[in-house]
Amino acid sequence: MTAPEPLAFPADAAGWLVFATTRPDERIARVRRIDAQLIAGTGLSPLARLQLWNEASIAIAEAASEASLLSESHPDEAVRVAAEARVQAIDALLAERALDPDLFAVFAELEAPAGLSTPAGAADGDSTAAGVDHDNGLDADARRLLRRIVRDFRRGGVDKDDTARARLRLLADRDTELSLQFSRNIRDGRREVRVTPDELAGLPQDFIDAHPVDDEGLVTLTTEYTDVMPVREFATRAATRAKLMSVYNDLAWPANDPVLAELLAVRAERAELLGYGDWADYETETRMVGSSAAVREFLDGIADATREAAASEYDRLLTRLREDEPAAEAVTIADFWYLLSALKREQFAVDAQEVREYFRFDRVRDGVLEITGRLLDVAYVPVEAGAWHADVASYDVMRGDRRLGRVHLDLHPREGKYNHAACFGLAPGIAGRSLPEGVLLCNFSRGLLEHDQVVTFFHEFGHLVHGILGGADAVWADFSGIETEWDFVEAPSQLLEEWAWDAEVLATFAHNDQGEPIPADLVERMRVADAFGRALEVTRQLGHANVSYGLHVERPADLAAAVEHWYTEASPVRPLAGAHSYAGFGHLTGYGACYYTYQWSLVIARDLLSAFDRGLMDPDVATRYRERVLEPGGRRDAADLVADFLGRPYSFDAYRAWLAGA
Ligand SMILES: [Zn+2]
Repeated sequence: MTAPEPLAFPADAAGWLVFATTRPDERIARVRRIDAQLIAGTGLSPLARLQLWNEASIAIAEAASEASLLSESHPDEAVRVAAEARVQAIDALLAERALDPDLFAVFAELEAPAGLSTPAGAADGDSTAAGVDHDNGLDADARRLLRRIVRDFRRGGVDKDDTARARLRLLADRDTELSLQFSRNIRDGRREVRVTPDELAGLPQDFIDAHPVDDEGLVTLTTEYTDVMPVREFATRAATRAKLMSVYNDLAWPANDPVLAELLAVRAERAELLGYGDWADYETETRMVGSSAAVREFLDGIADATREAAASEYDRLLTRLREDEPAAEAVTIADFWYLLSALKREQFAVDAQEVREYFRFDRVRDGVLEITGRLLDVAYVPVEAGAWHADVASYDVMRGDRRLGRVHLDLHPREGKYNHAACFGLAPGIAGRSLPEGVLLCNFSRGLLEHDQVVTFFHEFGHLVHGILGGADAVWADFSGIETEWDFVEAPSQLLEEWAWDAEVLATFAHNDQGEPIPADLVERMRVADAFGRALEVTRQLGHANVSYGLHVERPADLAAAVEHWYTEASPVRPLAGAHSYAGFGHLTGYGACYYTYQWSLVIARDLLSAFDRGLMDPDVATRYRERVLEPGGRRDAADLVADFLGRPYSFDAYRAWLAGA
């Protein structure tokens, strides 16, 4: 097998425009040719059909990842705009293929009578082999792929009658429109309040300077993050916090009330037409959790596990609130961040200014490369790849003489670039065919980093190495790298965050300008401070998860009353009375009923971490983790990979201990 070559980037602006247009257009045309070949070629063997499908999947992955990356990162706006149009063209192609009955028939006719007609959650495991008579001469991975293809076509409703298919297409389009409308209303829903200068007590001077007093002697605060975050963390007067937070919690209300009501109705009808119990059953069919009932059970389990610790943290918050407001009867969500921040500063003596001196950007970057390289038995060799911007540092990921993949680190802010932190694919990994390439788009300073940015760096790097290691030996694009269950995909990244909290690991690279490593006792104080408020933060997340699940499954007539009830039930920290925070809950569109996902991945991450009980750099455990969890990508169910690594099925024990402050 020949070793695949990395991508060659264009040399100039004109070349990039071609790269962002002609290449994806050619891939889209190629997919159409492959589909026509599949539909026409009834004589094709089962394996030949899957191989053609794979060729189409590779072309789609290449086009989608290049276009999506360039639309978010290229310095030339014309390239970004052209790339974004290709992202949409690929989405349209996928929607069209999903409802194409002729394409579906190519695979459906191979389907074995046993093992494939049951919901995929039950049929998707390696243990559920198709009957011997019906294995089509395919190996286990190929049979898994076939089941996956048929399942996903069915999930779109391709096998329904013409009327139902037309209705499903309409509902899917309406879901997209309503989701865009919901997000747009949030983006455009900016609100303001006006306060007296006295009401800004506690806010940093640079904030006060940036908010001048108007002709009427008042100061305007908006619902932008740049106002909301400092006010909720630093304003010492509870009334100021409550004033801004109550308009913030009414963002996009009432505009989003009818939008959300219709979106929930559309999803319920889609689920019913497709034959699912509810929308959560539909969404979770392809995930580890497996069913709507299991989500409910999971959320109830978190409520039980947090109740005691959250109550005791709440008492400390209320006591601290009464130092400022002796008559206070309860801690509301408007007080939460202020009290947490005050207690961490006053009781745990963690000075963020002192901490950041140990995290100069270039030393952190080199440290992340060195630590993950040692952990995963790879070396990162700098290469001149000629990427899209001079800031981008490219590295070949090597093991011995073998190039496993290539990564590109684009880590500083600039005009027109994606403004959060995320890992993007650039090329899918296919053994002997396509070298996996991945990209980090982050916005770190070139000087000193905050510790939470160091945590973010490790987190995103977790996605990056998962894509490379899980792609280097992949055969099928649909199982390459991070193509695994959505509620598992955060776990390897959440696990790697832990390396940013380990005194021994940090001592290897977190040095101040005098060359002194970060003191172990400072790291210990940081860990203790981090643990305080953890149970309450989880109950806050639980509130969001209950709302996301409850709205989609219980479909209450009175949205506001139901949401207030779910938040009150989840956490002792009270929601603001009469608020409509669901109207501004942007994740309701993309996450649907499944906001539980992040906590679920965390359960898995804490369990994975428990295996590193003899130190985070234990080479035997690290090798086992790499070989059994990262390298297989999506070739097996995540639960099986985790069990293979741990030597037992995953459990909640480690997560519970972490909640209790361990
Ligand atoms: Zn992540």
